[in-house]
Amino acid sequence: MELALKPEDEAFRQEVRDFIAEHLTEDLRTNAAIQASVRTDPETAGTWARRLGEKGWLAYNWPKEMGGPGWNVLQRYIFESECAAVGAPLINSMGYRMIGPLIAKFGTEEQKNFYLPRITRHDDSWCQGYSEPGAGSDLASLQTRAVSDGDDYIINGTKIWTTGAHYANRCFCLVRTSTEGKKQEGITFVLIDMDTPGIEVQPILMLSGDHELNQVFFDNVRIPKSNRIGEENQGWTVAKYLLEFERGGVSYTPGLKASLSSIREIANIERSDTGERLIDEADFKQALAKLEVEVMAAEFTEKKQMTDLARGKNPGAKSSITKLLGSEVGQRVAELKMKAVAHYALPFMPESRVPGNNVEFPGPQYALTTTAAYLNGRASTIYAGSSEVQRTILAKQVLEL
Ligand SMILES: Cc1cc2nc3c(=O)[nH]c(=O)nc-3n(C[C@H](O)[C@H](O)[C@H](O)COP(=O)(O)OP(=O)(O)OC[C@H]3O[C@@H](n4cnc5c(N)ncnc54)[C@H](O)[C@@H]3O)c2cc1C
Repeated sequence: MELALKPEDEAFRQEVRDFIAEHLTEDLRTNAAIQASVRTDPETAGTWARRLGEKGWLAYNWPKEMGGPGWNVLQRYIFESECAAVGAPLINSMGYRMIGPLIAKFGTEEQKNFYLPRITRHDDSWCQGYSEPGAGSDLASLQTRAVSDGDDYIINGTKIWTTGAHYANRCFCLVRTSTEGKKQEGITFVLIDMDTPGIEVQPILMLSGDHELNQVFFDNVRIPKSNRIGEENQGWTVAKYLLEFERGGVSYTPGLKASLSSIREIANIERSDTGERLIDEADFKQALAKLEVEVMAAEFTEKKQMTDLARGKNPGAKSSITKLLGSEVGQRVAELKMKAVAHYALPFMPESRVPGNNVEFPGPQYALTTTAAYLNGRASTIYAGSSEVQRTILAKQVLEL
């Protein structure tokens, strides 16, 4: 990949900047700036998503024939970097990043015609019903049953850690349709409308006090078989394809670079115990430089993977590399930011991070989200497959050990 920007790339960047300047209004920026979850609240993020959708830029990773802008990988990276640099709201990307590419590959014509345009406009908010209380890393052990009844399936069971299920209107879900043979063989991939009778969503609060996660209960939930993606009992193949997109094709580094530059700014203001500017303190300076190098290495790895994607290669098992790097370096960046804000990290005030609140945070604004971001970020080495699981995939499938 060409790393220096050509004049046409510079022009593209300016086009993105102009769009952001006009459409990312102050209220959206302010709401996003005070939040620390992997996603900004659905109202703020939804408004931003729809504005991008109107421009044709929401499903920015899609080719033209799928309804996307048809950008090359560098343009996608520029777009992500510009959004991260200004702290744009973090959108629920499960539609355009996960289920969209999957429907494009495995869906029927009818499913493609119905769902893909909706995803490009953010008409739907999706959640992912994979994990269960007894099936996380060992996902194939899932027990939620779908029993055939004429043209329908009747679903019973429970899903857990379902991000955004409390506001999602659609769920892509793995269900067991057979207990014969290997456990991977009896799984089917279905789409469920969240307003179907028999679904109950119960909240699970994060350490930071944020509500992102849920447990979802299915009690005789009837869905049409036309909501199935792929063949019955072939859901494992479908699901594995989706996991590659969940782990790969995601750029972590634009966000990490934005965090590092905010740490630099903070370190120019805050003082160390000895009274010198934090940025001049040897240990801090070294820790920051080390992370900047790590993020740069992660960025090159991501760009290499994007180049592969552009050449039509699936992310494959190598997507575990970017997932590992992005999440583990991200945790170290969050830790350094905790050190930079020092005692301002102490106040526990989740209410000060709710849009429209009138709570005064007893510290500088840049410290408001630091602890919550650090706490929420601990989960990044668990979700989308834990670090241990990613290392095993790399050892077996990439290094062939
Ligand atoms: C914030 C957050 C959001 C999430 N969002 C969603 C979502 O939207 N939808 C969804 O379906 N799921 C979601 N998950 C669930 C997530 O995918 C699982 O938590 C993850 O797969 C790990 O499964 P588990 O929690 O059951 O842990 P376990 O699988 O029980 O793992 C426990 C520990 O054992 C280790 N371990 C397990 N197996 C092995 C092995 N074979 N070798 C070495 N070590 C191993 C793990 O690394 C971990 O440290 C989310 C989780 C979190 C934390």
